[in-house]
Amino acid sequence: MSRIHVIGAGLAGLSAATSLAARGASVVLYEAAKWGGGRCRSYDDLQLGCRIDNGNHLLLSGNLSTKAYLDRIGAADTMTGPPQAVFPFIDLVSGAYWALRLNQGTLPWWVLRRNRRVPDTRARDYLALRRLQKVGPDDLVADLLGDLGHLYERLLEPLAIAALNTKPAVAAAAPLAAVVAESIVRGGAASMPRYPAIGLSESFVDPALAFLRDHRVELRFGARIAGLTISDDRVTGLVGPQIDEIVAPNDRVVLATPPWVAADLITGLVVPDQFESILNLHFRAGIDSGPAGFYGLIGGVAEWVFEKTEVVSVTISAANDRLDTDTDTLAAEVWADLRRGFGLPRTMPPYRVVREKRATFAATPAQLARRPGPRTRLNNLFLAGDYTATTLPSTIEGAIRSGETAASLI
Ligand SMILES: Cc1cc2nc3c(=O)[nH]c(=O)nc-3n(C[C@H](O)[C@H](O)[C@H](O)COP(=O)(O)OP(=O)(O)OC[C@H]3O[C@@H](n4cnc5c(N)ncnc54)[C@H](O)[C@@H]3O)c2cc1C
Repeated sequence: MSRIHVIGAGLAGLSAATSLAARGASVVLYEAAKWGGGRCRSYDDLQLGCRIDNGNHLLLSGNLSTKAYLDRIGAADTMTGPPQAVFPFIDLVSGAYWALRLNQGTLPWWVLRRNRRVPDTRARDYLALRRLQKVGPDDLVADLLGDLGHLYERLLEPLAIAALNTKPAVAAAAPLAAVVAESIVRGGAASMPRYPAIGLSESFVDPALAFLRDHRVELRFGARIAGLTISDDRVTGLVGPQIDEIVAPNDRVVLATPPWVAADLITGLVVPDQFESILNLHFRAGIDSGPAGFYGLIGGVAEWVFEKTEVVSVTISAANDRLDTDTDTLAAEVWADLRRGFGLPRTMPPYRVVREKRATFAATPAQLARRPGPRTRLNNLFLAGDYTATTLPSTIEGAIRSGETAASLI
């Protein structure tokens, strides 16, 4: 029986592997690390004495590929979030609190209600969102939407930074438009915030690995692929420190590594090559979980704060310019913001700063133009990963969809 070799057990690889295994394919999964999940995982932090995620990950109920993946691996009930599309915000400068509340249906009557929309905005301001329906590849978020005053500063800018992990002055508007089209445009039912009830691994990784074991997929951890043997127009072998595997004539390969690894393995492959970091600070503290379990922060160092079981977790996106800030300074700045927003004590509790340097590719027009499709010049090699040309930004939904696409081509 021919085999399918999936390289990389991040969400793109897990999506491809589970999708193929569900259709009865014989799959082997190779992962360089000793664990799965890639940039989306949980681990025990000895210093904090609890389990944390590498970073807060927010999804939306309109993420349909993610929903199908969670259904497939039997993990749909591991996700949680409010029963409606509610997004609470705190302005750390003025102390103002508000919650954006979309109605469930596709007719957006919520913009007509002052208490459901962003403070100091008018219903007609929201008509400007139509600009997102006609974006060109070179349109930038700030150029397209930056004139919208409070609607921009209090909603669109934080939304764009969260979705694109790139400063709006240089970020392309097209992937933001793709996110909005799959969520807000489809109404509140498609825009409900979703996140794991326990942790990223408990929702996205552990159930997928259990599913793969149940489907007799061979899981090889600590199996870094360092080179591909190529003959004419196909991959004929996989090589690495622990691996020397023949790829038989009818076998197929899905390469689901990050882009920099894919470019190393395939000569001449053009991929995004500029990245943005995300910093997450986990404090051993608690805040009121509010109506959604998290808050958007306006006017502070960080953009989002999540109330978790054992920690308060704060996200700073598009953070290349904060990478060199030392840990204590960063923690003190963020703790000062949390104190202002939530009345927390002066004494800073134990904390952990997680710096994901290459969290996503930079969503600039020039980088988007470098996204490859799923096919390669080698006829048995397919690409998956959040960096491939999904139209979506570098997200869980994009990664999972790319895995499905590769699987369906096979
Ligand atoms: C801190 C942070 C916060 C984020 N927040 C959000 C969010 O709120 N919402 C959202 O939707 N997305 C978010 N993302 C993005 C999301 O995590 C990624 O888009 C997604 O996890 C990428 O999955 P992937 O499978 O494409 O890549 P990866 O997760 O990078 O997986 C690639 C895998 O390949 C393995 N590998 C690498 N080289 C080799 C090799 N040579 N041989 C074998 N295996 C190899 C790696 O170890 C890894 O497991 C966030 C990311 C980070 C880092």
